[in-house]
Amino acid sequence: MKFIPYSRPEVGDDEIAEVVDTLKSGWLTTGPKTKIFEENFAEFVDCKYALAVNSATAGLHLALEALGIRSGDKVITTVHTFTATAEIIRYLGAVPIFADIEPETYCICPKSVASLLARHDDVKVVIPVHYAGQICDMDSLLELQKDYNFKILEDAAHALPATYNGKMVGGLSDIAVFSFYANKTITTGEGGMVTTNDDKLAKRIKVMRLHGISKDAFNRFQSTKPSWHYEVIAPGYKYNLTDIASAIGIHQLKKAHQYRDARQKIAENYNLAFADLPLICPKTRNSNDLHAWHIYALQLDTDKLSINRNQFIERLMEKGVGCSVHYIPLHQQPYWRDAFELKDADFPISTKISGRHLSLPNFPAMQEAEIEHVIKSVRDIILEAKIND
Ligand SMILES: *Cc1c(COP(=O)(O)O)cnc(C)c1O
Repeated sequence: MKFIPYSRPEVGDDEIAEVVDTLKSGWLTTGPKTKIFEENFAEFVDCKYALAVNSATAGLHLALEALGIRSGDKVITTVHTFTATAEIIRYLGAVPIFADIEPETYCICPKSVASLLARHDDVKVVIPVHYAGQICDMDSLLELQKDYNFKILEDAAHALPATYNGKMVGGLSDIAVFSFYANKTITTGEGGMVTTNDDKLAKRIKVMRLHGISKDAFNRFQSTKPSWHYEVIAPGYKYNLTDIASAIGIHQLKKAHQYRDARQKIAENYNLAFADLPLICPKTRNSNDLHAWHIYALQLDTDKLSINRNQFIERLMEKGVGCSVHYIPLHQQPYWRDAFELKDADFPISTKISGRHLSLPNFPAMQEAEIEHVIKSVRDIILEAKIND
């Protein structure tokens, strides 16, 4: 059995043909392919606007800027995420305030958010992260929005496709951002999408993603105005997505449900195969909703094992299974810990989980034999390390 990587992107002949077509078309940067990708995406998530950007990080930055965040403003997010979610708060000179997570879904804990809102005046934005592709408790966050004057920016980097109360993620709150990084649920190599139903937010993001120019290149070259005419209305960024990337995205999007189904099947196989072991398998909040299953995060019941998480990962590697950790929480990362004086004791749930969890491979291109090899490897290591009581 060859080494099974944690993730392996799947790119088909359709993507390749579309990229070649784009390369031959004479239009490489943002143009007709990006327009198609955006239109298809907006329809897919049932949202008024889908705005393509060159990464989710860029999209989160643009979204927060469009929401009016300026230096010194307060923004709440979770510690149990990738650093990008929080770094964009710092890009704007704003102040991150960190919440703990729910013990079963690892999503931001609304009770933790409520207590932070009660303690801090004037929180402008809350950024929930749909961890692993399962939607946060949005009902509770939307309820809090009635009592406090904040906007919601969803980090939906893991959550394509996913539903909440039957509705696609993308139009659940003020604004959402998806990622098409190489290991995400669909990919364009690097890329992202911002979705919103808000006309003003969409307008601002369109301007700011391309140098603060009031018309994007596509309109500029298609409109009846002279092609050289443009106006700079703000010091914008360079965050537009190329047509080469969008060419890949158009075809990846068509396979998003098929990929998700494959990941769910792998997750179900794992859950079934590990049920009798001292492991805590991922749980779904509502089985009627779609879970994107971007991550299959497993927790070791270390009290019942003679090995710790790091040793477990080493043994899996020896057996040819790649894995990952999502995440070393931000309160344990030097920058965030030191700059904002974050302590383990302030995030008891995330702290407890952080030393005990890891993520197993669950990419759609996994072969049956590879899935079986992961299962057998996990079972063998755990059964050997199990402390008999
Ligand atoms: C991957 C990821 C991002 C950043 O996505 P990029 O497209 O690489 O910028 C942000 N937030 C979360 C939770 C992620 O997993």
